[in-house]
Amino acid sequence: MTSAPVAPLHYRVEAANLQAHLYRVTLTIEQPAAPQRLSLPVWIPGSYLVREFSKNLQHLAARQDGKAVILRQVDKNHWEADCVASSPLELTYEVYAFDNSVRTAWLDTQRGFFNGTSLCLRVHGQEKRPHAIEVLSPQVSWEAATGLAAHKVDKRGFGTYLAEDYDELVDSPFELGTFWSAQFKAGGVEHRFVVAGAPRAFDGERLLADTRKICEAAIRFWHDRKRPPFKHYVFLLNAVDDGYGGLEHRNSTALIAGRRDLPRTGDARPSEGYTTLLGLISHEYFHTWNVKRLRPAEFARYDYDHENYTQLLWFFEGFTSYYDDLLLRRCDLIDDAAYLRLLNKTINQVMQAPGREVQSVAQASFDAWVKYYRQDENTPNATISYYTKGALVGLCLDLTLRAEGRTTLDDVMRALWVRCKGGPMTESDLSATLKELGGRSFTRELTAWVHSTRELPLQSLLEGAGVLAVQEPAALQQSLGLRASDSGGLVQIKTVLRGGAAEQAGLAALDEWIGIEVGGEAWRLTKVDDIPLYAGPHRKLTAIVARDRRILRLELALPADATTWRLAVGKPERVRAWLAGAR
Ligand SMILES: [Zn+2]
Repeated sequence: MTSAPVAPLHYRVEAANLQAHLYRVTLTIEQPAAPQRLSLPVWIPGSYLVREFSKNLQHLAARQDGKAVILRQVDKNHWEADCVASSPLELTYEVYAFDNSVRTAWLDTQRGFFNGTSLCLRVHGQEKRPHAIEVLSPQVSWEAATGLAAHKVDKRGFGTYLAEDYDELVDSPFELGTFWSAQFKAGGVEHRFVVAGAPRAFDGERLLADTRKICEAAIRFWHDRKRPPFKHYVFLLNAVDDGYGGLEHRNSTALIAGRRDLPRTGDARPSEGYTTLLGLISHEYFHTWNVKRLRPAEFARYDYDHENYTQLLWFFEGFTSYYDDLLLRRCDLIDDAAYLRLLNKTINQVMQAPGREVQSVAQASFDAWVKYYRQDENTPNATISYYTKGALVGLCLDLTLRAEGRTTLDDVMRALWVRCKGGPMTESDLSATLKELGGRSFTRELTAWVHSTRELPLQSLLEGAGVLAVQEPAALQQSLGLRASDSGGLVQIKTVLRGGAAEQAGLAALDEWIGIEVGGEAWRLTKVDDIPLYAGPHRKLTAIVARDRRILRLELALPADATTWRLAVGKPERVRAWLAGAR
């Protein structure tokens, strides 16, 4: 006996009210359960924070056979429809969309963007079935772009797309509006680049050519002449006045970047901002393999209702960060010196964070939900970034493996991909692969670098790779042990670093630093960097600060200069061999 094929779950998405930033969604379930449970995710994979997307959902209603069905709200993001199983259930609701980030949804008269985690209710019990999403155009001039496979779509990209299951549906953001768009092939696969909000001077050809090089380098890195594990790929970039970020998906990425950082027609040399954007593109594209496919065993199936804990973000975010700039070097988008400048920045970010003595990168990964994604004035003191220190763990492993001459981290990554079949992995998989290819156990290194707060052996490993690492005086704020902003002539303390002179003096975050008294004179302070100007040879001064409107006078001893690292090419041929990815 065969039963008639059941139509896929069907979501109809209308950009219903651009001025009110409201999407209207109609979800049709051909064969509902009785009762039918529904929920909206609390987080989006790749961004490890409970964001409570249901706070933007309203006017949820259910109907069956033309009659209203009772809906019971179970908790903050679950509902139960009191329906029968014999006929289709239709749900309607609105989603407020006014977050201009890559993580949720946006809608106004200029543009629309959404992730399925914000717009698509999960139909419990039918997550593994095909999901269709029909997106309607609000304006004749708008287009639509997504990584999902088109089913019945017009030439502007509106119509119905198909996802094989709920995971794919919510892993495929949509960009809507009037945008720049172009295509290229890499690894034999069609890639599309969409840019919303690009200014007149934007050099699209340049962005396309450079992105293509990055994609070719990444595909070569993982497969060596084989095709990548996706049929097509799309970059969705939103250019804004001020913003930076990206979120990786299985065959797409959503990016946000400043308009000034886009390449411009006629530019002789790429700007620093554009190099940063290429690094972001490289980072998110590398994630297509490293975290979307090869991924923590804990992410084998995402739990959309709760935090998904893993100790491995230092590997998935850190090693991706190690390789993002390295691939720019390997496809000649930057030179050796520029690569070392980027690495230099990462090293100083880690070395200037007292939190590296408090938290290991494995702990930092686990605590991402309450620490990395909830940063405050104490973050540099209490935490270490699994991005930056994780990248340095990758660097230390790579340089160690290269020094021993048996293998490289590149080979280890590829072997892990094969060992784990491009799927879930554990730290034991990494240990085993390192041992197999490296010819010895690396437990000692992983324990020290990943699971403890001991300093990484950066200096000796870099020197071995032909890089000179010299110590220089740090910036004044670092020497004082504080981070402050001084825009508009007001100095405000953002962070007081653990164990520094500012902490000793009793300065605190949020203090407004009004002035200093030194050598019998008093000065209004508008820039921290002016302190040596007024202090001259004096090493002791009084800091005058305002805290909660009260004026405080704090005795501050100017410390000896702290140091910072500066990297330079020492032995060019050795540096070249490492950065070019030679054995
Ligand atoms: Zn990342």
